[in-house]
Amino acid sequence: MTSTQARHTRRAVLQSVVDAGARCASSDLEMWFRGDDEPDADWQTRRTAAQRVCIGCPVRAACEELALRSGDGEADVDELVRAGLTGPELAAVRVDQAVRLAVAVDRDRDTEGRLLEDLSVELQTQAGRSPDTDQRRHEQHLRLRALSASIRRIRTARRARTGWGTTGLRAGIADDMTQDDDARGPERDETDQYNRVVPLRRPVRSASAA
Ligand code: SF4
Repeated sequence: MTSTQARHTRRAVLQSVVDAGARCASSDLEMWFRGDDEPDADWQTRRTAAQRVCIGCPVRAACEELALRSGDGEADVDELVRAGLTGPELAAVRVDQAVRLAVAVDRDRDTEGRLLEDLSVELQTQAGRSPDTDQRRHEQHLRLRALSASIRRIRTARRARTGWGTTGLRAGIADDMTQDDDARGPERDETDQYNRVVPLRRPVRSASAA
């Protein structure tokens, strides 16, 4: 994994958020776990105290998502507290949010897709600038071309992987950056979008003009 991909991985981001703000960081972490053979009454008292700490924790949402992603908690085992939730409560949330969680995890794995989005955003930002000198205009032009080449390379590879041919694929980089769109193949107006966003000296010929 490259440093760019690692930076984008949501799990790593969540973990760093929790590490930075966990209210339990200065507490004895044993407090959040039931001891071996600990009587119900003792555990319930400690569990309630742990939940009180969680309620005021500034990173509770990140903690909960991390716990769900990690598969913490079981429906019939009451032995821990994470993000203010008991094991059975975490298991219930995971069932309730199963679809949303699966989508989030899938997206987490799609580091290439996020890189594509980042490049597209930078392309749009660069294209919106109005350099005031020839030198800066030249630098902008070079950057735009480099960005468009990177985007095109990634999109071409993604399309090839989903079974779409790449012959004649010149652009399609301004909009429709999602994986779903990649699966549909090139669209008619992609070349026009490219010419609009990237001010090439020689416009790319549209498919209809070819
Ligand atoms: S929500 Fe609770 S378990 Fe999670 S970091 Fe905060 S205090 Fe710790």
